[in-house]
Amino acid sequence: MIEANEEEALGVIANEVKVCQKCRLGKTRTQAVPGVGDPEAEVLFVGEAPGYQEDQKGIPFCGPAGKFLDEMLASVSLDRDKVFIANVIKCRPPENRDPEDDEKNACWPYLQKQIEIINPKLIVCLGRHSMMRLIPGQASISKIHGKPLRRPDGRVYLPLYHPSAALHNGSLRPVQLEDFSKIPSIIEKIQKSDQITPTSQESVPTAEVKINQEGKDKIIKQKLL
Ligand code: SF4
Repeated sequence: MIEANEEEALGVIANEVKVCQKCRLGKTRTQAVPGVGDPEAEVLFVGEAPGYQEDQKGIPFCGPAGKFLDEMLASVSLDRDKVFIANVIKCRPPENRDPEDDEKNACWPYLQKQIEIINPKLIVCLGRHSMMRLIPGQASISKIHGKPLRRPDGRVYLPLYHPSAALHNGSLRPVQLEDFSKIPSIIEKIQKSDQITPTSQESVPTAEVKINQEGKDKIIKQKLL
C-alpha cells in the first residue's frame, strides 16, 4: 500500500502537464487536463482529448458527455472517486479538431506514466481514438466495443463507444449502458485470472487482430480475457 507515493507521483505528472509546451496545443489551451481520480483505481477510463468545458475547467469529462459517463458509472455502482479518468491528449485541440500524430506522440508519455503508476486492472478506452492508441490495430470500434482483450503488456483493455456518441445517436445509448454493465464481471474475471498462471501459451484463448506495422498489414494474436 503506497497510495501516498502514487498520489505524489501522479501530482508530479499533473504539474508537468499543466505547464507543458511539448506540442503546439500548449499555446492554444486555456487549461491542461491531466486527469482525476483514485491513484489506486482498478479501472482507468481513457478518452481522446479535452473539449470546450474541460479546457475551461481543467477537469476531464465535465460537459454533457461527462454527465452521461457519470450516469453510466453510477449504473455499475462506481463514481469518479473510485476510478481514474484521463485522456490520450491532455490539451484541447482548437475547435475540437482531431489531434495530429505529432501531438499524440508528444503527449503519449504522460498517459504511459499514469498507467504505470495507477497500475489498473482494466483500462477502458472511450471512443475510437483512444482505442486506436491503446489497442493498436485496424478493427472498428463498432466491431469490438464491449469485448475485453488482454494485450501483450498483460493488461486487460475494454473498448467502448465514446459517451458523446449517445448524444449524437440516441440508439447507441442502450448499447453503451449494456457494454458498461459488463465492467463488474470483467473485473471479477480479471481478479480470478490473475490468480491463475496459464500452464502454456495455448491455454489462453486468443483472437487474430490485424495491425499496420511500418506500412504493412500484419496479423497478430492477442489474448482474450
Ligand atoms: S497536448 Fe500534451 S504534449 Fe501537447 S502541450 Fe499539452 S500536455 Fe504537452
